[in-house]
Amino acid sequence: MPVIEVTYLVVGGGIAGVTCVETLAILHPEETLAIITASSLVKNVSNVSFFAKTIVKFDVNETEASSLMRIHPNLKIIFDSLKHVDTHNQIAYTYAGDEIKYKVMCICTGGVPKLIRDSDKSKRILGIRDTESVKEFQEKLRMGRRMVVVGNGGIASEIVHATSGIQKVWVIRDDYISATFIDPGAAEFFQNTFKNRESQPNQKTVIRRHVFTEEDQVVSLNKDLKSAALGPDWYRKLEGIKDDKGVQELEIVYKVEISSVEEKSDKEFPLEVVLSNGRTIECDFVVSATGVEPAVNFSLDEEPVKGPEGGLAVNEFQETSIRNIFAAGDVAHAAWEHAPHWFQLRLWTQARQMGGMAAKAMHGRVVNEEVLQDFCFELFTHCTTLFGYQVILLGKYNAQGLGNDYEILLRMTPNHEYIKLVLQNGKLQGAILIGETDLEEMCENLILDQLDLTPLVDDILNPDIDIDDYFD
Ligand code: FAD
Repeated sequence: MPVIEVTYLVVGGGIAGVTCVETLAILHPEETLAIITASSLVKNVSNVSFFAKTIVKFDVNETEASSLMRIHPNLKIIFDSLKHVDTHNQIAYTYAGDEIKYKVMCICTGGVPKLIRDSDKSKRILGIRDTESVKEFQEKLRMGRRMVVVGNGGIASEIVHATSGIQKVWVIRDDYISATFIDPGAAEFFQNTFKNRESQPNQKTVIRRHVFTEEDQVVSLNKDLKSAALGPDWYRKLEGIKDDKGVQELEIVYKVEISSVEEKSDKEFPLEVVLSNGRTIECDFVVSATGVEPAVNFSLDEEPVKGPEGGLAVNEFQETSIRNIFAAGDVAHAAWEHAPHWFQLRLWTQARQMGGMAAKAMHGRVVNEEVLQDFCFELFTHCTTLFGYQVILLGKYNAQGLGNDYEILLRMTPNHEYIKLVLQNGKLQGAILIGETDLEEMCENLILDQLDLTPLVDDILNPDIDIDDYFD
């Protein structure tokens, strides 16, 4: 087969790869650009809205890869998988035998679901990653009577809320639900919201100030959550698969992990799950939503430096340890020295930011221009919708890395808003803003500027004081 020669090569059609392609098409439209994508559908971003300098909300859609030609008519789309990279001669090899010679390449191959132990023993243990796995899940859901959901991140939370007509046992390691994104207080806010939404529409705002000490205990919350979620689109595929008149029970088992899973032919249910507390649960299938592992599913003639979770270590310009090979999104391990309020979490927001940054740095390399790291890496931000509420997470929103030496300011109005500010030495380190709080821009500025808020601590969340006046 003839060798294809391009300036830019991008591998993977997820958010990181597509953002990289789109950004390169704008920065360097006259240059040759190719994308290797394992699937004919790629992801893209639409309805981008800026809440503040670094806080961006957008929708994620699936679209035909060929639609990328609209933004770059010369884009070469190679429907195949990357197999091997000859880093010295700068040639990428695909499974079908294509050889692509590149000047710079960006690897955006994403991640694969981390499955629980013993997952190789049964086809009844599912990981959720792509459209295929959701289809498989739909099939199992249609026939199933009882499922076990493992994991406590956004995916597990949405599965629990989107499915109906099946008994659910939700097994989590923590003391409270949805721990990746929210804290026990916010979990309580959501759970109370479901119970109270109809009965008590106008509740009083509660403002609390709390200095954390070693004696603090995480609260265990009520265990009878039974509400359907309004999540991003993929969850909708799980809705309505069974009619709601079937069995609906949800049991949350806190502070346990799965010890083993065995197929059984002599029992009422085909699968037996043993938990770390010794309890046995029989079920039809297990959904494992315990995160992803970076998908470095190709070989290289030189071993790149990797992070502890196996991701390709990248510097602040998204370049790996191998010159001219960049990486972005879930496959990358952010190995640069992070800004004090930024950390890596494998989410769409960061896949998009890294894909854009990689494109700028690749372009800089080709035209020999210096680039600076994008401002978005100064502050961790994530905008999402959980259970119908807008959720904005900023900086060290769960006091990540602050030890016990921090203070929390809390304002909660049931069914309306939940605001948590995390302060250390009087300076804002992070925030959780649930509902239409209108505080995101102020919080962003306060975290970035590290203004001493000690004199304002008692007023900052007082709804009767317009705190913005202080900063004018
Ligand atoms: P991916 O989106 O995984 O894309 C990688 C692409 O590369 C895939 O198309 C894959 O087929 C392709 N590929 C892999 N290997 C090769 C190869 N060798 N050659 C060619 N192509 C290859 N994040 C949020 O922010 N909000 C959410 O609500 C949210 N919900 C999620 C729900 C689920 C079920 C899952 C699994 C994740 C969710 N995430 C969410 C996380 C988010 O999906 C990821 O962080 C993000 O998609 C990463 O983008 P990416 O481009 O790095 O990788």
